[in-house]
Amino acid sequence: MAWILALLLISAAPLPAQDHPQLHVIAFGAHPDDCDLRAGGLAAKYAAAGDLVKFVSLTNGDAGHYAEGGGPLAKRRRTEAMEAGRRIGIVYEVLDNHDGELMPTLAVRRQVIREIREWHADIVLAPRSNDYHPDHRNTGIVVQDAAYMVTVPDIVTDVPALRKNPVFLYYSDRFQRPQPFRPDIVVSIDDVYDKKIDMLDAHVSQFYEWLPWHDGILNQVPKDPEARKQWLRSQEPDAVPPEWLTSLKKSYGAQTASIRHAEAFEITEYGRQPSEAEIRKLFPFFPKKQ
Ligand SMILES: [Zn+2]
Repeated sequence: MAWILALLLISAAPLPAQDHPQLHVIAFGAHPDDCDLRAGGLAAKYAAAGDLVKFVSLTNGDAGHYAEGGGPLAKRRRTEAMEAGRRIGIVYEVLDNHDGELMPTLAVRRQVIREIREWHADIVLAPRSNDYHPDHRNTGIVVQDAAYMVTVPDIVTDVPALRKNPVFLYYSDRFQRPQPFRPDIVVSIDDVYDKKIDMLDAHVSQFYEWLPWHDGILNQVPKDPEARKQWLRSQEPDAVPPEWLTSLKKSYGAQTASIRHAEAFEITEYGRQPSEAEIRKLFPFFPKKQ
């Protein structure tokens, strides 16, 4: 129960002054770097504001390398994930399901229901179920399958059901069929962008070994830790995608033109449907309306 200890440590740390009720946010990914890529900036913003964030990887990542695998790789990736979480001040848990073999089974659904309930989540984040990777797809399905069940007391009876269904959000993605991602909520992460890069930098086995190897560019990765971090930064997009701008403008108005980095989310149909006023409470980062 390392996450309980981590939560206690985070809870014991002096919190930044909070101008809103503390929010509980939980994000699911298939692999120990998935949440980081899509919501690392958002998580860093919540953590800086004194809110509680947990990332959960549904697999242990034990197939994510070209020269390593199995138990030793799973251990390495868990250590990297813990470090990534530490760097932005959130809890990170890696479940011991095999990488590349995740199925939307009842057992995994129960794991997800427990996680959401134990975190008393206000917001749940997960991928959509349209994706090139079966683990990502199945993570999307299993979180959708939990979206109503977290409120049903006779399901997973050892953890009390939530009386209020959380808001469930999808991460952004580039898949077009059966329908493209819809950027309902777009958040500027310029203020925490360095922290996000720092978080990604903790996943050495992924961003400096496995993914560049898979893309055939392993020889481009600098050996020096500071140089490779700069290289990692150069690989990330340096502008907000044009299709997010309308939504960004709705929240940031005239500031939109100066925003360079953002993360976008789609409100799913399965959790609570928040009003505009509630979205502003759940995302206390937007400039006040004039
Ligand atoms: Zn992944």
